[in-house]
Amino acid sequence: MRHGTRRKSFVPGGAQIFQRIFTRLGCQGRPPHFVVEFYPYANLMHTIRVREQAARVRLCDALRGAPLEILEAAAALLLSRMYRREPPKEMLHAYRQYTVAPGTRRKVARLRKARARVTHTGPQGQIYDLAPMFERLNDEYFEGRLPQPQLCWSTRTWRAQFGCFDPALNQIVMNRWLDRTSVPAYVVEYVLFHEMLHVKHPLRAARCGIEAHSNAFRQEEKRYAHYARARKFLDR
Ligand SMILES: [Zn+2]
Repeated sequence: MRHGTRRKSFVPGGAQIFQRIFTRLGCQGRPPHFVVEFYPYANLMHTIRVREQAARVRLCDALRGAPLEILEAAAALLLSRMYRREPPKEMLHAYRQYTVAPGTRRKVARLRKARARVTHTGPQGQIYDLAPMFERLNDEYFEGRLPQPQLCWSTRTWRAQFGCFDPALNQIVMNRWLDRTSVPAYVVEYVLFHEMLHVKHPLRAARCGIEAHSNAFRQEEKRYAHYARARKFLDR
């Protein structure tokens, strides 16, 4: 990661935009003093933090150069959450349109690639090697056609998920917790198989935990020979 890519800078007219939307949403009380900057988040996310009379707003710098109405919509999203207001539907719609536009998606993917921490440990764990496992599953369930992304083990044990496919980095990361003798091979394979399905269906469920899995995805997942046993093990 280069520090040069992590510049932050103030959003031109940012304070006025937030003042205006504050009024438009009918937020109660005196508006705080808004300080609005672009921030080099690795995702299209924005944050607001209010302390006493000051509100520090950070907009993902992927919005640099976005039309005014998109900055206003981002302001509406943040303020409506904070002040429990309904954001105007047309603003939500405009924002949504902007975020799914191919140009925006490419831009965010580029930022992620440059900024996301690469958890590069390689496919060979202490106990399990993901590379031959991938090959075997690919032959058995995908006719050997699935392109192989980078495979690696997480550097730390995660609490929330067993694996993750990141399309921007084209990498499957498996939770290091699975890489031990007390976890049977069919469980590790199941998790890898699940992530391989995300490789196959990148748009329907781009990232674990963020988008729910479709019914079709769930059905296909059951093709794995030891599905029930593996689920049982992980559900404990
Ligand atoms: Zn998933």
